[in-house]
Formats: sequence, C-alpha cells, structure tokens
Amino acid sequence: MADLMEILAAQADPGVRIGVFAESLHAEETPELRELERKALGDGIPIIRPHTRGLIQCILEMKAPRRILEIGTATGYSALVMYTYAPPGCSILTIEKDPDRAAEARRSFDRFGADRIELIEADAAQVLKELTGPYDLIFLDAAKGQYIRFLPELIRLLPPGGVLLTDNVLKEGEILESKFAVTRRDRTIHKRMREYLSAISRDERLRTVLLETGDGAAISVRRRG
Ligand code: SAM
Repeated sequence: MADLMEILAAQADPGVRIGVFAESLHAEETPELRELERKALGDGIPIIRPHTRGLIQCILEMKAPRRILEIGTATGYSALVMYTYAPPGCSILTIEKDPDRAAEARRSFDRFGADRIELIEADAAQVLKELTGPYDLIFLDAAKGQYIRFLPELIRLLPPGGVLLTDNVLKEGEILESKFAVTRRDRTIHKRMREYLSAISRDERLRTVLLETGDGAAISVRRRG
C-alpha cells in the first residue's frame, strides 16, 4: 500500500503529491478502527481521510475537549476516532439523518463499548436549534450545501476558545474554480460553500484558517473576549 502511494505521489501534480505523501504517512489508527475504515470504504461510505484523522488527533491533544458535537455520523468512523483519542470522560453527541447509517453506527458504538457517544437520528437543521451546548469541539461533516445554514447555531454552541472543524471545504479543488467552470448541477453547492468560507473567515467572533488537509479542512476558533 505504501509503495502504491509513493508511485501515485510521484505521478501527480505538486499540490496532489503533497496530499498523497501526507496521507501515506498514516496517522496512528487502532486495528478496530482500521477494520471499520475498510468496511466503510468497501461500502462506498464517504469517511474522513487518513490525513484528516491525523488533524483530528492533533486537535484532540491540543484542545483536550470535554464535549464534542459531530454533524454527519455516517457509520460512526470519525465519531469512534474521536472517542478513541479524546481524553477519558469526554462525551460525544453525533447527528445523522440517514436511518440505515444511523443503525449501523449504533451497532459500531455498541461493539466498541462507546457508552459516551450519543447518536441523534434526525436532520441537524432541526436538532441544532434545540441544543444548549457549549461544545469545545464541533466537527462539521455533513451535506456541504447546508453548512452556511448551520453556522449561526454552531457559533452559538461554541464557547470562547472552542474549535469548529469543517471537513470537505475544497471539494477536490472545485471550490477554487469560477462558478462558470462548475457544472450547473454543482453550482448551488459551489456558491454555498464559497459563502460559508467567506462567512467563517470574516466573522469577527472567529479566527479561521483554511488547510489543504484531506479534501480541504477549515479550523475556526471562537475568539476569547
Ligand atoms: N463523519 C463521517 C466519518 O468520517 O465517518 C462521515 C460523514 S459523511 C461525509 C456525511 C453524513 O452526513 C452522511 O451520512 C449524511 O447522511 C449525513 N448528513 C447530511 N446532511 C445531514 C443533516 N442535515 N443532518 C444530519 N446528517 C446529515
């Protein structure tokens, strides 16, 4: 696998090469998580990439969160990554609207004995309004076109110093392109993601940095004072 990654890294353009190289370094992962990752990928479920997992692991070490909120559970892989590497006692609330994925995630949580993960099976647009927070870390990994709608509630749920990590913000680089270079079908997502990136970058309550990690990640920290 590592050899294949090196070959791919050598053939791709420089931006892609850096990403492939970074992914090939593989941040630590337990055998149980690796099995879950393999199954999700085999079933075509989009889950965080290894480089994003590494970013999450670093944030967990830096931030040592006590409460995490995740939007977009899928089959539970990223929630279990956070559960495995967060400090003992940290609780995770994760939201998934797809019943089949939520059911599979619940089975995975049971298998891992992850009793500090709570899953709400519903549309996050409804659930977020009802949450009181605060959450030290919010991981946003759901439908890209909805991020801008979620943002006011996410900021409300973040305490000073709290971290909002948003995944898949570059959409394989498509977000950098002019809207005219994007297929008509993808224009709404393109527009909304641009609006979201602009909002998290300009909002005075946040400090945001955009990273090339995985499919693009944004880290936003709620400013103190
Ligand atoms: N975080 C997961 C992981 O890395 O293991 C992957 C999440 S997958 C990229 C996105 C998930 O968000 C899908 O399973 C989808 O059903 C869910 N989703 C999309 N929009 C949602 C919404 N409004 N509320 C709740 N879940 C949503």
